[in-house]
Amino acid sequence: ALILGIESSCDETAAAVIDSNGTTLTARIVAQRIASQDEAHRPYGGVVPEIAARAHVEVLAPMIEAVLGDAGMSLGDMDAIAATAGPGLIGGVMVGLVTGKALAMAADKPLIAVNHLEGHALSPRLADPALHYPYLLLLVSGGHCQILEVAGVGQYRRLATTIDDALGEAFDKTAKILGLGYPGGPAVERMAREGDARAVRLPRPLVGSGEVHFSFAGLKSAVMRAKDAGVHADADIAASFQQAAIDCVIDRTRIALGAASAGMTALVVAGGVAANAALRGSLETLAGSHGLPLVAPPPKLCTDNAAMIGWAGAERFALGYVDALDVVARPRWPLDDNAAPVRGAGV
Ligand code: ATP
Ligand code: MG
Ligand code: FE
Repeated sequence: ALILGIESSCDETAAAVIDSNGTTLTARIVAQRIASQDEAHRPYGGVVPEIAARAHVEVLAPMIEAVLGDAGMSLGDMDAIAATAGPGLIGGVMVGLVTGKALAMAADKPLIAVNHLEGHALSPRLADPALHYPYLLLLVSGGHCQILEVAGVGQYRRLATTIDDALGEAFDKTAKILGLGYPGGPAVERMAREGDARAVRLPRPLVGSGEVHFSFAGLKSAVMRAKDAGVHADADIAASFQQAAIDCVIDRTRIALGAASAGMTALVVAGGVAANAALRGSLETLAGSHGLPLVAPPPKLCTDNAAMIGWAGAERFALGYVDALDVVARPRWPLDDNAAPVRGAGV
């Protein structure tokens, strides 16, 4: 099936055409475009919701036309339209969802309201056709840090979440403390390569406690104290922070691997922080020690994009899960609350 995917939940405006019959990544992603608003938000050191929503309004409609042009297709060629319906900044989510509804109505196509987190969660299957359910998923992004069993579309069991900051948030706050600007994750990773990860003694919150959940607030405070102390090179702080954060993730993922249901086919990592090479390396070693492959999408599919939304839409469409046009945008929408799609509701 051919699916038009639309993403606008944070500060990336994105559109993609997905062909679910494709057998390779390039065949599956027929066309995609992403416009990042990084420049618009940089002066503020973080995403400003009002600016984001306005930018989505300006960029989205022409982008959809352009991506259909790239694909050499028209709206009429699509089998369905998939738009992010949450969670995220509500103004931006509404722009994408309303656009999706309008196109669905105009072209008489089914609408699929996609949970952005499901986009991240299923993106590894877009990248790797050999990845089968069930798998253990580490979902690490700007707003989330969770470990879930993914048994199928809409079938998520959450084993762990964060009790304070998300992992991406910890990277972004560390970047801010080090004056690296916004967005912070990639900048911290780059700087960490120049530093000594053993130079600064930082805490590993909850490591060794047997706790399944995450906590990064204490680590962030320790980074702030280390910077204020003024004795360490920034690169050493960045490297030490990244190593402490990875140690926490590995500890909790090891516990989850022990607690997961039998039959997991892979350890999978997705979400923006999954683009981090050091994290991927450590997870690969952990997965191997449990006799599992590590599956991680290419970095460009880890951060926000519309291909993953189109793909989640394609998986839903194949099962007959479509949504009515009065479906609402949801600023908060836990993934494990995704279990009851409206089956074959039509448009
Ligand atoms: P959510 O998906 O939870 O709603 P989001 O959509 O804002 O949040 P993503 O786009 O999935 O988040 O991920 C962005 C996050 O990933 C940011 O916090 C960013 O700093 C982080 N990130 C991106 N690349 C890297 C990297 N190479 N190393 C560490 N963190 C990274
Ligand atoms: Mg972004
Ligand atoms: Fe995201």
